Amino acid sequence: MMAEKDDKNIKALREVWRRPENALCADCGKPDPDWASYTLGVFICLRCSGIHRNIPGISKVKSLRMDHWDEAQVQFLKQHGNAVAKAMYEAHIPIYYYQPTHDDCHVLREQWIRAKYERKEFTQPGRQLPYSNGLKEGILWKQGRDNGQFLPRKFLLSEREGCLKYFAKQDAKEPKINIKIDTINATFQPVKIGKPNGLQITYLKDNKTRNIFLYHEDGKEIVDWFNAIRSVQAHYLKVAFPVASDNEIKSRLMRNFLKEGYMEKTGPKQREAFKKRWFTLDHRRLMYFKDPLDAFAKGEVFVGSGEHGYSVKQGLPPGTQGGFSWHYGLTIVTPDREYLFTCETESEQQDWIAAFSRVIEQPMTPQEYAIEAYFKLSS
Ligand SMILES: [Zn+2]
Repeated sequence: MMAEKDDKNIKALREVWRRPENALCADCGKPDPDWASYTLGVFICLRCSGIHRNIPGISKVKSLRMDHWDEAQVQFLKQHGNAVAKAMYEAHIPIYYYQPTHDDCHVLREQWIRAKYERKEFTQPGRQLPYSNGLKEGILWKQGRDNGQFLPRKFLLSEREGCLKYFAKQDAKEPKINIKIDTINATFQPVKIGKPNGLQITYLKDNKTRNIFLYHEDGKEIVDWFNAIRSVQAHYLKVAFPVASDNEIKSRLMRNFLKEGYMEKTGPKQREAFKKRWFTLDHRRLMYFKDPLDAFAKGEVFVGSGEHGYSVKQGLPPGTQGGFSWHYGLTIVTPDREYLFTCETESEQQDWIAAFSRVIEQPMTPQEYAIEAYFKLSS
């Protein structure tokens, strides 16, 4: 009798699990989740289940394959599931709020899960959230330019002034740096910075890229800063482009880098010795640095669209000299010249080619024509 009842239960569990609405992790979108929370009624992936396990007051998780599920728990999953949970916990997400995917770092995914289920930030419309009022002030640890040490610095974000500032001294009246909000890109870089909550802020000064590297011990605080910057940027874009749709605004907000890593490069004569550099592809800007944590890019290359004479090719032009120690070459062709790079491995080479191809395949926007013109002027 008992075995028969178990079989029926397992069958019922499989049926709910197989519903199309439960085909992706409720929190990061990864296909084929095989864990579930029996207090929230959501189907989630293994990595997200690890985060849920750390919030036991809210969520209790089990493996759908390995653990025993009793009838009441299966019924609960049946009545809930990812669609019902989404309608409740994700009902009112501000357009600027960053919803992480499976590829994002731990702190972003953890704070997203806590914001949804623990703090219930998105269940009610128009809630006053710690990142939604257009003003944020506080201390962040900023890496010094000379010795690489992290020091506490006062930061101020202002929607009214459209900028992010930081101050060298707590009581200083004048900011050390005043960054225009529309030039900022921020990305979490735990590995590169060597801190789990490490945040890189990239901005333009005189149309040149500058980096600052920050962190805060508290995961909520650093993610609040991240979303506060996005919120001020969304406000700026709405004022600048009043007819833009929410999706257009979203697509213009800060973005992840398409790819980062070491390559070797040679100079414009293509006879100079190849030098190892750290490269960052931030949409159409390919920047290179001597060290991944440098404040200033040593140089930048604009990567336009295919219809405008840009392409990427595997390999180096025949007879390339200059001495390179890495053997997986690639060439970026622009209307003005060719850029030669080498990668350490074939998979790195293929990843870079794929990243460049993605950018080159997209048509250029009017703003990007202006940036291209600037690059041409200054080169
Ligand atoms: Zn997940």
